[in-house]
This record gives sequence, structure tokens and C-alpha cells, in this order.
Amino acid sequence: MAILNSRRTTAAALLLAAFMLVSAACGDGGSKTQADTAAGTSTPPASSNTGSTGTSADASKSKPSETPAASTNGQNQTSGTPGVKQTAQTDIKSGTKTDDIQVVANPADVAVLVNKTNKLPDSYKPQDLVDPNVPFTFKEKLEKRKMRKEAAAALEKLFQAAKKDNLPLAGVSAYRSHETQKTVYDRYVKKDGEAAANKYSAKPGHSEHETGLAIDVAGSSGKCAAQDCFGATKEAKWLAEHAADYGFIIRYPEGKEGITGYQYEPWHLRYVGVDTAKAIVKQGVTLEEYVKNAVPVTKPKS
Ligand SMILES: [Zn+2]
Repeated sequence: MAILNSRRTTAAALLLAAFMLVSAACGDGGSKTQADTAAGTSTPPASSNTGSTGTSADASKSKPSETPAASTNGQNQTSGTPGVKQTAQTDIKSGTKTDDIQVVANPADVAVLVNKTNKLPDSYKPQDLVDPNVPFTFKEKLEKRKMRKEAAAALEKLFQAAKKDNLPLAGVSAYRSHETQKTVYDRYVKKDGEAAANKYSAKPGHSEHETGLAIDVAGSSGKCAAQDCFGATKEAKWLAEHAADYGFIIRYPEGKEGITGYQYEPWHLRYVGVDTAKAIVKQGVTLEEYVKNAVPVTKPKS
């Protein structure tokens, strides 16, 4: 009987751990809490690039460890596999993750995998951020308008195509610097405690928005922006059907919560390049699964 109880306890603990791994939002702070709005419009953090259309004043100070974006030439299948290096970081305190955190070796690769176990180097800042010429749900020139050049150009084409189909879109939140993510995350930890914050906000380095390749979108009315109800809109249906044609994937699909670590987010688009996006849709997999399958059997010497 003691053994049975012990097994039950273990099973319950595993279930709890699995539940806690699935967060409520894509590291934006959650659909309910509207962290994007809080972070970008009403109370911009001191470290954000508010009001500036150029590069951050901190750009010269950062030393991004960039690697060539091999996947930009449509070679994602063979060369787009993110390399990783192990670190000894663990996160026992938060209770949400105890596995090793890996720092991605290819932060500038358009197919880079960033999630709860793969983080960007602390010093990483995309070097080719631009303002995509698309409507946003706000008027201010904020940091969160920015995307990397290739992704921004693709986004413009995507928005044009949606508009042509009478479903005009608007950007809600794109790039977020490491500093901004840290400010947002720290604010939530202070407010709700670390364990609670981890359920709805990504830790610094773990948000896809820091890559400059992700954007949350909505219909041009802004209705259901970054909220569950967006999934039922015509815009969401259109995006699910057409985003890959422009190199974007619905990064956190329904039913894949256990793999991505995030609940279904029909509004969170991630640019990975057209070839990779189409392959991911065709295979019906997540970026996690796609990258895992692309890992070479024979590991190169290091
Ligand atoms: Zn997002």
C-alpha cells in the first residue's frame, strides 16, 4: 500500500509539473493581463526604446555573438538546426522547470528555437531591426513595432495579401529587447511571485519576441488582440491557411501545448522562412519537432 501511495504521489507530481509547464501566453505577460499594452504604451519601461526610430543607444555596447544565418538561403532542412551549448543553469526555485537551460548558439538564424529550455544569449540584440510598413493597434513609434529586416518584408507581403482578401490585419506587438523583457518579467515577479509569473510571462532570453522574428497580430479593429477569442475570427482562419506562404507559422498551435509549453495562441506569428514554414505545415509539426527531426544523427566534433 505504501508503494502504491508513493506511485500515486509521483504521478500527481508529474501531472502538476506538466500542467505548470504550459503557460497562458507567449511570454507577453498573458492575454488577460495585456502586458504588451502595459509595457509599451501606458507605462513604458525606462529601458525600452520608446520614441526612437533608430537603433538603441545601447546597441554599441552589446556584443551579439552572431552566427551566419544559414537558413536564409532555404537550407533550413540541413543547416538550420540550432546548435546549443549546455549551461549549468537550473530553475528549482520557480518549480516550473528543472531541466538544463541551453543557450542557443545561432541566435541570428531565422529558424532559431527559443522556448522555455532554449534561451538567447544575454547579449544578443538583432542587428537588422526595422519598422515594418504595416498598421499597428497603436500610433506611437515604439520598440515593439520592430522586426528583423527579412521578417518585416515578409510581414508586409502577408498583410497586403490579407487586406486583398478583405481581412486587414494590424500588428499588436513584435520585437522586445532583452532589457524590456527583463523589466516586464521582474515586474510580474514582484507583483505575483516567481512561480505565478512563470505561468504567464517568459523569462528574459526565453521570449521569441526577443528574436525580432515574432509578432502578435489582430484584425485591424484590434478586437480580441492577443486574446483567446481571436481564434474564432476570420482573420485567424485566414492566417492559419496563408501565413506559411509568407514564411510565418502559428507558433503555438492548438493541441501542442505539451510540446511548445504554451497554450494555443492563434495570434502569435513566428517568421522561419518560406521553405521551413511550408515544411512545418506540411508535416503538421511544431518548430520544436521540426528542429529535433533535423538534428543530424552523427554529431560534429566540438
Ligand atoms: Zn507573442
